[in-house]
Amino acid sequence: MKIKPWAFILIGSAISFALIVLFFLTVVEKVAIKNIVEKEQALLEHQAELIASNLSHGDIEQVKNWATLTAEFDDYKSAYVVSNDRTIVASNTIAEENKPLLEIDSIAFNFLNTDPNYLLANNLLLISAPVLEKGNKKSSHFLIIQKYIYPELHNFSLQVQYTALISTIIFLVFSITYFVMMRTGYIQRIKLFCSAITRFNDGNTEARVKEEKDIFYTLACTLNDSFAFNEHLNELLHEKDNLANLISDLTPDAVIETNEQGTITNINQSCLALFGYDSKDELKGRNIAIFIPIKYQKSHHEAFVKSQKLESVLKKIRNVEAMRRDGSVFPVEIIISRYETAKEKHFLAFIRDRSKAYADKKAIEQLAYHDQLTGLLNPNGIKQQLKNAHFPMQMTVIELLYLRDINDIHGHHIGDGYLQSFSAACKEIELENALIARLGTSKFLICHNSGGKEEIKQMRSLINKELIIENMVLKTKFNRCVSTLASLEHFDSIVEQCELSLRSADGEVNKVVNINPEFHKNMKRETTLKRELISALENDGLYFQYQPKFDANSLKVKSAEALIRWTLNSEFISPGEFIPIAEKKGLMPIVDRYVIHHICKQIREWINLGKPIVPISINLSARHLFEPTTIAYIFEKVGEFDIPHNYLEIEVTEYGLIKDYKKTAINMMRLEQAGIEVAIDDYGTGNANLETVLSLPIKHLKIDQSFIKLGMKTEKGKVVLENIFSLAKSLKVKTTAEGVENQEQLDYVKEAKCDDIQGYLLSKPLLIKDFEELIKDPAKSTATILAP
Ligand code: C2E
Ligand code: CA
Ligand code: CA
Repeated sequence: MKIKPWAFILIGSAISFALIVLFFLTVVEKVAIKNIVEKEQALLEHQAELIASNLSHGDIEQVKNWATLTAEFDDYKSAYVVSNDRTIVASNTIAEENKPLLEIDSIAFNFLNTDPNYLLANNLLLISAPVLEKGNKKSSHFLIIQKYIYPELHNFSLQVQYTALISTIIFLVFSITYFVMMRTGYIQRIKLFCSAITRFNDGNTEARVKEEKDIFYTLACTLNDSFAFNEHLNELLHEKDNLANLISDLTPDAVIETNEQGTITNINQSCLALFGYDSKDELKGRNIAIFIPIKYQKSHHEAFVKSQKLESVLKKIRNVEAMRRDGSVFPVEIIISRYETAKEKHFLAFIRDRSKAYADKKAIEQLAYHDQLTGLLNPNGIKQQLKNAHFPMQMTVIELLYLRDINDIHGHHIGDGYLQSFSAACKEIELENALIARLGTSKFLICHNSGGKEEIKQMRSLINKELIIENMVLKTKFNRCVSTLASLEHFDSIVEQCELSLRSADGEVNKVVNINPEFHKNMKRETTLKRELISALENDGLYFQYQPKFDANSLKVKSAEALIRWTLNSEFISPGEFIPIAEKKGLMPIVDRYVIHHICKQIREWINLGKPIVPISINLSARHLFEPTTIAYIFEKVGEFDIPHNYLEIEVTEYGLIKDYKKTAINMMRLEQAGIEVAIDDYGTGNANLETVLSLPIKHLKIDQSFIKLGMKTEKGKVVLENIFSLAKSLKVKTTAEGVENQEQLDYVKEAKCDDIQGYLLSKPLLIKDFEELIKDPAKSTATILAP
């Protein structure tokens, strides 16, 4: 039996696909598992080093944190730290801690005892790493993790299968193409053609032609044809009288031959087509004026026939208008040349139709200067039009509202319809010399020369106008900013200011706003500060001041708060200004990292230099603090600079932003358990309420300065403050009074049994040198400035 080539190709593809998949199952999968094991092993060994350092410091909480954190990632089933006697020291399930491993997980126990490299059961990968503490060669503990690797393997297997499929398809396409070409004899022809060209290039053409006549037959014919054609051309060229005919045959342009009087002596075929005539005889003997639009005929006659000015335009390309037989006028490009025979002078006009080029130009202009959806001018288009405008012009920038809602609810086609109908309504308004443009998605601009009253009248007709889009009635809602445009030069900046000012109407409807210079100035400053802040963060351009916190009884410095500082081109920028900008522009995570890194580094420096140290608190926003990445970064830096955990404290603001109280509580516990104290900042400002205090494991409250000030002013205020202090006492929560500025306040907070005191009365925030001086000297570090 003879197998058909098609069947052969198909069977071949199927076999190759099967082979690749089989190859994966037998070899590649093993390699993939090996890779995963190696990667996980390296990771675990790195963790083991960190744990070793924690164990060396006797920091068992950190070790427990590792176990809990590791298992929080989806694909880890469990994580254990096991001591040499096979007792679980830390586990992600707290109940398992301090129990024998054998009792909890016999597979892991056997795995550790028999010491295989890894174990794979039910797609669960089991690996371990020894913990080698400093100085000890023998491991004191083992880390064990169990990880699901099925998804990773599955993905990998899918990739291999896709690759197999694609290569099979490529193989199939190539085979089929080759097969088809073989059948139709294309390959032979291509081969023949290639070898012909090669031999021809070799030079010895004549000899080769003789040798392999059939190969060269086609090529030789072509060459002969072209020689013959050349000769024909030469013959024709020598016959002057036939010149026009020759050109007629060769050019797609219209060619008209006239005598000195403008009488047509010859024309070509293209000319008939271009001007709409049927035969050459129809035109021969008539005057060239029949091709000239009526309005130019007289001047043409004056210039070229009477005054013989034709010489001046010879051999120059000119763009003029021409007239067809039916009287329609169209643009053409024309060049006229002259030649003389023995008998007389002849003029030859070559004419090219430019209608299409004009249409293209118009289309390009339409694209470049118009908005495609609404057909209105775009910003470039209106600027182009304003070049000829009568300044000053009145300007109205409109922001059409609810477009996004319409898109979301009814779909984009209705949104587009809304924009188109609104644009059509804009076109109908009656303002002098109105130019209307679409500036952006939902922003429109109208420039005109009418007065303010007329503008208001016309705009009123637009407000709440009912637009019908696909049987749906939508009412127009917009805000607008009105201004005057003194010249085209100011266009961009005035439009920008109008757009910015419109933002101040946020949330309002059918409102008229004027340009607000203050608002614009603020936006500019925000943009500059954002840019400069990024560069300062990248180049260590921020520094810190330290404001001491005093013990309420002894008035000794107990701790200090690190306050970030920024000086830009000798201007001090307060954190009260740049922190909200950083928050708005999404830079807070970077600022937080900057603070965490620099303060940990600073504490390490004090330790290395043997200087006296007090715990330093840093300010972090709750919004970011309780994200796992921030917590991990804090632990990372504390580990990197190897600083005792109780030297670092955290003040958290913006408690109102916490959404997940349960998760926050867990994260807070982690910090507290590791010895990093967390305090609630600005307590009493509304951000942190009683719910916060009760639902979180809070150990320290900083009572906001405004609260201290206001609370002191009235009897009622005093009662509220007293309540806070006593509530804190009963909950065993430490309190710090912020912003204590005078003796009365100091006396009061001392009386109320507040624990710590911070404020200008005792010390302002200090530059690092002054702060180091203060804590170096125990005499100085007791506040003595008790006068108001
Ligand atoms: P805060 O955390 O409440 O910091 C205390 C602010 O009160 C500091 O202002 C401090 O100089 C000021 N202050 C201290 N004692 C007194 C006093 O007796 N009277 C008065 N009137 N003010 C006093 P500063 O340094 O301008 O900081 C303002 C805010 O900026 C801080 O409020 C904090 O929320 C934020 N901030 C400062 N540094 C950082 C930082 O490193 N990271 C973050 N995320 N925020 C920071
Ligand atoms: Ca603070
Ligand atoms: Ca505060």
